[in-house]
Parts: sequence; C-alpha cells; structure tokens
Amino acid sequence: MTESLPDLHPDTIAVTAGRPANEPDQPLNPPIVLASTYVAGGEMEYGRYGNPTWSAFEEALGALEGGRCLAFASGVAATAAVLDLVPQGGRVVVPRHSYQGTLAQLRHAEEQGRVVVARVDVADTAAVIDALDGAALVWIENPTNPALELAEVTAIASAAHGRGVLVAADNTFATPILRQPLDEGADIVVHSATKGISGHSDVLMGAVLTRDESLFGRLLKHRSLYGAIPSPLDAYLALRGLRTLPLRLERAQENAQELVRRLGDHAAVRDLRYPGFGTILSIVLQDAAVADVFVASVRLCRHATSLGGVETTLERRRRWAGEAPTIAEGLVRVSVGVEHIEDLARDLTQALDAAEGDHRV
Ligand SMILES: *Cc1c(COP(=O)(O)O)cnc(C)c1O
Repeated sequence: MTESLPDLHPDTIAVTAGRPANEPDQPLNPPIVLASTYVAGGEMEYGRYGNPTWSAFEEALGALEGGRCLAFASGVAATAAVLDLVPQGGRVVVPRHSYQGTLAQLRHAEEQGRVVVARVDVADTAAVIDALDGAALVWIENPTNPALELAEVTAIASAAHGRGVLVAADNTFATPILRQPLDEGADIVVHSATKGISGHSDVLMGAVLTRDESLFGRLLKHRSLYGAIPSPLDAYLALRGLRTLPLRLERAQENAQELVRRLGDHAAVRDLRYPGFGTILSIVLQDAAVADVFVASVRLCRHATSLGGVETTLERRRRWAGEAPTIAEGLVRVSVGVEHIEDLARDLTQALDAAEGDHRV
C-alpha cells in the first residue's frame, strides 16, 4: 500500500490513502478482489477473515480517524461488535436520542438480560458522568440523531476513564473530517459508512476504529466469528466515496448553513435545530399532519430515510415506531446534499408554503 508522507491534510489523506504501491503497472485504485479463499500460509487465509479491498478501505478510513479500522457489513453490525465487548450484565450508558437502531439493539439486549441500559440526556454532562459509576460502556453521538444535541466528549471520556468505563463514539454524523473522537478521548469509533462516507446512497457498510491493540483483537475476533463482513464491491464503492468526502461535505455543509438562515423564519417552522456544523438539520413543524404535508410536497428533494448522500433527502422521524417518544411528532430531519442552493431553497420553501397553507385551511 501507499507509503505514508508526514503531515498530510485530511483532504489529501482522503484522496491518497489505501492506494496500491507507487510502482510501474500497479493500478491507481485497489482492485475488487473476489475471493472466498487464499493460498495457505499468509495472513488472509479465508474470505471471512480478510480481503485486500476491505484493507484498502480500512487503511484510508483508519488514516482519517487516526486509528486501526475494521470494515463491517453495516453500521448496525459494527455497533453489535462493540456491544459484544460489554460483559454479561454490564451497564451501558446511552444518549436517549441515539440512532434508533442502536437503541433497538440495546433494548433487545436488555430484554434478554444481557445488559442494563441507562438512557441519558447527553448534552447534560453532569448527568452523563453521574451515570458512569459501575458502567461498562458509554455510547456517544455528537451530534445525536435526530435531535442534534452536542456532547462534551473530552469531559465525558476523562470521567469515564477514571472509572474504567469504555467510551464508544458513533461518528457517522460528523464524519472524520469534522470530528475525530479518538483524539477527544474515545476508545472506539463506530461508523455507518452507508451514510456520508459512501455518500451516494448505493452501499450499506460499517466500520469500527480503535488505537487499542487488545480492543482491536477482540473486535476482529467478533467479525471473524460472526461474519458480518462487507462485500468487496461495497468496500470498493465506500472507498471511492470516501475520496470525495471532504469536497462533498464542504458543499453540503455550506448548503445546510444557508438553508438554516433562509428557512428559520418561515411561518410553518416552529423550531429549526442545527448544531452549527455538518449536513443534517431538523425542522420542527406544528404536528405530524403538517410535517407529512411538507415531506409529501417536495419535488426536487426526495422523501426517504437514511442520510449523507449527494442528494437531499428528508423524513419525519416519528413515522418510525422505534424513534424516541421525546422526539417531536412534527420533526423532519433533512439530509442536505450538494445541489445548487437556489434550487434547494426554492423546493423546500414551496413545500413549507404547502404545509403552512394546508394548516391554515
Ligand atoms: C444509519 C446509522 C447507523 C446504522 O447504520 P446502517 O449502515 O444502516 O446499519 C448507525 N448510526 C447512525 C448515526 C446512523 O445514522
């Protein structure tokens, strides 16, 4: 793989990391290696244990996050690997507004008697720290999905480490370009690479990163034992997406910030949540009915779940039964893409007009 040059900027790392050696006739991109088995005696041995296309993706994301990376079949598979580190009966502290799939896994594990779950307001640092005594793991989302609350990761991590509590951060929303939780003290970073990293709504993939060799070994063992592995094609596509993550993010974040300025005063908008960075904003409308008219009225944007693609998507989160009941019924999460701002602003404004008009009737 690529020799590493010192002091590269993230934009450059995204473009250069994980490429084949700089030698005559080597391809610039890693090949998609379709192999269930390898000639014996090496490190890979079998397709469930390793794959050169995964390795290229892992090298690139690892360089951006500053840790060693393991690719998984999906974000929830990555989360399951991390929760598997919690001992039987261990306590997990989790933001009450975490990604609903993470909350669902924890509820399931709780029902089976495997873990005890403490749900906290992650923006209330003192409350999070109070909940850490006797815990095995604290989960962080910064910002949370979809409430977009912010966590004081450094303070939480140092309190956790003083109590022997592992810190895992789901960095899907911020991406390694905007936040590097390992530098803020997290032991483990989790990604749904399905989102901004891939960036084109055509891949499901996840990743786990750590600097701790012993944790890395346990996570690798989990992946090899349970087999939640990505396909080589998906690893290729995720790496291809990662190459342009800084560029896409720059444009989409600029769009998001401009939309916050333009839509915040619209008569239909009760509240507009935006953490100040990133590509996700949550628009709170009066109620579910008004929000449903809004999402049904977009023409350019798409009404769809998921996020982080080049195209703008939006959805009312409470349409999912698993979403936290403390999320407003009228909250619509918008994943802002890289379209021209004037086209986006016009589409969302006319959809808000439609929602407001419908409400007045
Ligand atoms: C989508 C998502 C996940 C789950 O990832 P999948 O790839 O869908 O399994 C986890 N965390 C966050 C914050 C997400 O947005």
